[in-house]
Amino acid sequence: MNEVLHRERDVVGLDRNDPDAEIVASRADEDLNQEVLHRIVVVGGGAAGLELVTKLGERVGRRGRASVTLVECARTHLWKPLLHAVAAGSLDPGEYEVNYLAQAHWHGFRYRFGEMIGLDRVAKQVHLAATFDEEGRQITAPRSIDYDTLVIAIGSVTNDFGTPGVAKHAVPLETPAQAERFNRRLVNACLRAQTQTEPVRPGQLHVAIVGAGATGTELAAELHRTIREVIGYGLDRIDPQRDVRIVLIEGSPRILPGLPDRIAKATHRLLDEMGVDVRTGARVTEVSADGVKLADGTLIPSELVVWAAGVKAPEILRRLDGLETNRINQLVVEPTLQTTRDPDIFAIGDCADCPRPGTSAPVPPRAQAAHQEASHLVRQIERRLHSKPLQPYTYRDFGSLVSLGKWSTVGNLMGFLSGRSIFVEGLFARTMYRSLRLMHEQALGGTWRAALSFISRALAHRIDPPVKLH
Ligand SMILES: Cc1cc2nc3c(=O)[nH]c(=O)nc-3n(C[C@H](O)[C@H](O)[C@H](O)COP(=O)(O)OP(=O)(O)OC[C@H]3O[C@@H](n4cnc5c(N)ncnc54)[C@H](O)[C@@H]3O)c2cc1C
Repeated sequence: MNEVLHRERDVVGLDRNDPDAEIVASRADEDLNQEVLHRIVVVGGGAAGLELVTKLGERVGRRGRASVTLVECARTHLWKPLLHAVAAGSLDPGEYEVNYLAQAHWHGFRYRFGEMIGLDRVAKQVHLAATFDEEGRQITAPRSIDYDTLVIAIGSVTNDFGTPGVAKHAVPLETPAQAERFNRRLVNACLRAQTQTEPVRPGQLHVAIVGAGATGTELAAELHRTIREVIGYGLDRIDPQRDVRIVLIEGSPRILPGLPDRIAKATHRLLDEMGVDVRTGARVTEVSADGVKLADGTLIPSELVVWAAGVKAPEILRRLDGLETNRINQLVVEPTLQTTRDPDIFAIGDCADCPRPGTSAPVPPRAQAAHQEASHLVRQIERRLHSKPLQPYTYRDFGSLVSLGKWSTVGNLMGFLSGRSIFVEGLFARTMYRSLRLMHEQALGGTWRAALSFISRALAHRIDPPVKLH
């Protein structure tokens, strides 16, 4: 036992005889109490990982059947499909964020703050980088966490396909911080235009969104409304008709390339009605401070550029002790969600390349896939704890919905009995769209908490401005 304690002290770089090391040592003691239990470690607390640890914590952690640990590099969780609304200023992230420490305390799992930077499959350890605060002071030292079962759920990042200027001039929408940064830029651009002595320049209040998948399309519609609302709060030197323009740029021949044609057509029609400038078959070759350059030489002037074209899994997965990855860095998994080269390591969510029987395309990187995989894996890990064989996961497509803000919602739903796709639009579609988020909130906090949050937010929205103004 002492040797294990010493090992923990060595990993965090402490003197074995140093009395100041007591705080860390007591944490090590706490970890050692769990030593005899099967150690389940989940890296990444997003749509998939946080639902997984919450359910596992309730079902096996609380009952002392296994120890459940979440490793996560952020302190709070915000469901990613809400990010476009944060960027547009129609949603305050503070109202929807889940605090990892509190969630862990309430649901029987442990939360370890830090970023996974390596893996040792023989020693069965995940390596975490040191963390630092804004002033550069160290918060946590480099450390390693032991596992018996490891689940990797670190999601995806934006893929800029090496396009010059994207990193410098475009904002991706991967994290709440990036979405808030874009919103601040937008509000600042409006304030600048209101107070400057010269007239508004062409492109000064133009937003170019590269990528007309669900994220880019939803952002275009939401921005069209919120930018006008910000201006409506007394910024009378800006004429929205003349000065504001939203351009949605897509390399494929049509918008929403991953969704059925009928949804794409209906959405395109609605965007046209709103006045969003949609450019399809337009390949972006460069982003600069002046705007977006296309392959045919056209420059789309724009001082605000969002990059929402394509995703890939984080680079770190290529260096994970020889685990198999595909061309976009996803971990290749068996139908059981076990990685191909190590049955003790699972991958779920956007970072997993999961086969889909009957098709050559893998399971798509979507919130509903993350939700289904987390639910499936809870049952499989319970089976694993009882040494029962694992069952394969089958993705079930319930349809897709695209929200165009207050304008409309369109999409398709899969008929339960017929198995055929049904086109939906308007209020019903919007209700179904919201239900996906509510399902995630219910999975994290239960029905009562989800219902209370819904009511409290609805009340708050009656007294707050409908859009963020700072
Ligand atoms: C703007 C936007 C809008 C979207 N809209 C929709 C939609 O309408 N419908 C839909 O179905 N899907 C949508 N998606 C996709 C959906 O959000 C994802 O499919 C889903 O979030 C994937 O869940 P995940 O758990 O795999 O990853 P994530 O939810 O991204 O979670 C990954 C977690 O891992 C953490 N992490 C990353 N690297 C490390 C590391 N090295 N160490 C420790 N922790 C790490 C991250 O901080 C994060 O918390 C949208 C995505 C975006 C970006």
